Amino acid sequence: MNNPTATVWKGVPVVPGVGYGPVIRPEPRPPVPAPVTVAEADRDTEIARYDAAAATVAARLTERAALASGAAAEVLSATADLARDRGLSAAAAQRIRTGTDAVHACAEATDQFAALFTQLGGLMAERVTDLHDIRDRIVAELTGAPEPGVPRPTEPSVLVADDLAPADTAGLDERTVALVTRLGGPTSHTAIIARQLGIPCVVAVTDLPEIPTGTPVLVNGETGEILVRPDELAAHAAVRASAEQRSATSAWRGPGRTADGHPVGILANVQDGASAQQAAGSQAEGVGLFRTELAFLNRETEPGVDEQAELYAAVLRAFTGRKVVVRTLDAGSDKPLAFTGTAAEPNPALGVRGLRIAFDDPGILDRQLDAIARAAEQTGEQPWVMAPMVSTVADARFFAERARARGLVAGVMVEVPAVALLADRVLEHVDFLSIGTNDLTQYTMAADRLSPGLATLTDPWQPAHLALVAQVARAGTAAGKPVGVCGEAAADPLLACVLVGLGITSLSAATAALPAVGARLATVSLDLCRTAAAVALAADDPGAAREAARTALQA
Ligand code: PEP
Ligand code: MG
Repeated sequence: MNNPTATVWKGVPVVPGVGYGPVIRPEPRPPVPAPVTVAEADRDTEIARYDAAAATVAARLTERAALASGAAAEVLSATADLARDRGLSAAAAQRIRTGTDAVHACAEATDQFAALFTQLGGLMAERVTDLHDIRDRIVAELTGAPEPGVPRPTEPSVLVADDLAPADTAGLDERTVALVTRLGGPTSHTAIIARQLGIPCVVAVTDLPEIPTGTPVLVNGETGEILVRPDELAAHAAVRASAEQRSATSAWRGPGRTADGHPVGILANVQDGASAQQAAGSQAEGVGLFRTELAFLNRETEPGVDEQAELYAAVLRAFTGRKVVVRTLDAGSDKPLAFTGTAAEPNPALGVRGLRIAFDDPGILDRQLDAIARAAEQTGEQPWVMAPMVSTVADARFFAERARARGLVAGVMVEVPAVALLADRVLEHVDFLSIGTNDLTQYTMAADRLSPGLATLTDPWQPAHLALVAQVARAGTAAGKPVGVCGEAAADPLLACVLVGLGITSLSAATAALPAVGARLATVSLDLCRTAAAVALAADDPGAAREAARTALQA
């Protein structure tokens, strides 16, 4: 029972679980003093002052990275690298040389880079939040203000913010029992790190008012509800029930199946040998998505076949005798690869990305398939390969011919609605399909997956998106071929039940998300999943779809 005076707000739930505690908020940005003109004789000292402040900020972040692990450590190191970026310090120094003080030189230099990153779009644009975070930290260091960011709570607390800098999210510990942001989508940094840390999280609570620090709130990371000043006893009971569910999750050992024994592959998304090793030590039964492009984001030149084969073999060896699905390079859009030589486009998400790069010159694709085949030969494994950003039946045939010519099992990703609509015909040419729900929602809803303001549109529970998934799953069942899901949707335990009810045969997600998905599936029958799928499909919006599915699964 809720406190009658409690108020409820709703956002997009991204990490399940319930957290209750007083609100804490990030420290505000440091105040910026009025500009002063630096005398010519003092400019070298001022440059040194800037450099020292940037170095201190970078060192602090590096220290925190060393104490973190996984995505959190990566985010902290990447932010530290940005603080010590030579381009940024050169831009600041250039301004100081004309008399600007270090604080304003820092602000202007970061603004210059932020404009450049925004123009580049995609993943680079996402780094603008990091740049602003770096600016605030350097300014605080220069002016002696407290370090901006998240306060260290002394009791279990709920962190509420407009948006969180990746470095803030990465530094959280177990005293932060839930996260709520007004901005950010299900694929934002906040969501990714909250998922890794297992902190209940709700994002995109667009109409969230200013809740004063210290106000008790209850956050439900499965329903997306935020209850302000809830009934205290009921709140504690909800936290206890959620903790019990968590312990069932940690006790889950696999294999993936529903309560009545219907098998569902529980697979991991990986990006290199190290992450595959980590996944192999978990409940993952195999790899459902090996994002090969992530290993080459910093490369100016194409890695040779031998080097690629070594990388692929490392992943295959981690899962000896088990399923590994290698995705060919998904370059372009938010993951530009310098060596593909594609021209800048005004609309990169709709441009030459993924398989489309191979149409003019299939050389990079062919060499990658050669490398995968070589890795298969070296390890004696039988990898499956799939192409991203496939749009037509002809695309699927083009890819399958090349993969099969090398003895590889060939599939394609379903990310473009056109392929979902013609899934039955595509399946005549490939052995399996894997639905990339991150892009399928983006293209179904015509909403940029990186846009925080559009998070309710890019919600995978959108009934239009679910209708396309249903159509693909039906085509797979009719053809007797597997259809998996490898986007973020597979990491949502409730949605996982719906996907299985729609006929999806495997779910692939970040390793940390797998136990919650497997444990939830183990509590429901296939029939119940089918009922949940039917009611979710019949709903008019994502919130209603979630609610209907949850109610159906409680039956
Ligand atoms: C997807 O689009 O859902 C997917 C898995 O691919 P990526 O997130 O790498 O684009
Ligand atoms: Mg994709």
